[in-house]
Parts: sequence; C-alpha cells; structure tokens
Amino acid sequence: MTGTIAVRAGARARQTYYWRVRNARTRHSPPSAGQAWHIQPGHPGGAYCDLGHELDPPSHHAPTLLSRSRPTGRRGDERQFRGGCLACEWEGPVHSGDEFGKGGNEAVEDAHDHCFPGWRTLPPITTVEDRWAVPRNRSRWAQLIARYPAGWIDQGAPVVAWRRYRREAHAPPHAGRPRYELHVTRPPNDRGRRPTDQGALF
Ligand SMILES: [Zn+2]
Repeated sequence: MTGTIAVRAGARARQTYYWRVRNARTRHSPPSAGQAWHIQPGHPGGAYCDLGHELDPPSHHAPTLLSRSRPTGRRGDERQFRGGCLACEWEGPVHSGDEFGKGGNEAVEDAHDHCFPGWRTLPPITTVEDRWAVPRNRSRWAQLIARYPAGWIDQGAPVVAWRRYRREAHAPPHAGRPRYELHVTRPPNDRGRRPTDQGALF
C-alpha cells in the first residue's frame, strides 16, 4: 500500500479498515495491511485482547494504542505508534518506536491524557510486589482508589506504578485487570525512600 488513502480517523474505524485490507476487500494487497493504522495486538479493541469486543463504543473515552509499519528501505520497517480512543475519533501525535516500549509508551500516555486528564498525579504503586498484592487486598485497594476522581475506576482509569527499568512497557488491560498499568519514573525526591515506607502513602 503506497500513497495517502482517505481512511476515517479513530481507532475503531482504523481497525475496521485494517481488517478490510487484510481480508482483501480493498484494492490494496492483504500483506500490506500492517502499513495501515490499526490497534496494536493485545491492546483494547485489537487482536489477541481478552478485554471484550463490544460492537457499541463505550459511553466514556477509552484509551488504546494504534500502530503501523513504514518501509524504510535497507533498514527494514519502522514502527510508528499513536494513541487512540475507542469512544471517539481522537488520535494522538505519531511517535517512532520499536517493540520494546519506545514510542508505544509515549502514545499510550497521550491516550490517557485524552481519557483521564491528570492521571499523572494518581497515587503510585511503588513496589513490584504491590502491583500484584494491592489489587487483591480489599482494604488496600479501597485506600488506593479512594484517591481517584469519582467515576474513574469504573471507566478503566489506569493503575500507576513506579517502573523497574527504563522504558518498561506499559501493560495493556485484560479481563482480569480492566485498566492499563502505566509504568512511570520514580520522582527524584523519592529515590531514597525504602519500600517499607510504602504504608505512609496510604
Ligand atoms: Zn475519546
């Protein structure tokens, strides 16, 4: 597929068009479908996602991740990412990236800026163990989400966790955790804080 094709914007329309190319319903060759914007596999609304595939758009803004490949000649294909929304036609700026979090993380964050403005100030989970433990402990979970704006949890607001390493990829939602887990940089003034101080946050 070459040249500019008039395709409706928005994650749902992009994904539909992508499958039309893949299923040979357009004049473009099916193997070129990856060059059309589509929902990154495993992200909401995309292939391999077990979050659910409702035909009706959600009643609130819902983040997802779009990607496409761009042929670059000898260097192989370049991956590009941008944030998308399952409820409206919003699309974020394009980020060049790779399979290891580069580009994709920025795009997922753009989508959260669209859907949950201010998410960066949500209370973080500070240890890797607590990423698993807090959602399974009723009182700790209640303490965490009490600091979220009203209605956000039901709309799939993210869990924010301090990242383990640079460019740790954000984890997409799934049936067991219907929200992104966003991995953010630990603030500089928290670097000396020991994990045992975690209780002070709650
Ligand atoms: Zn939206």
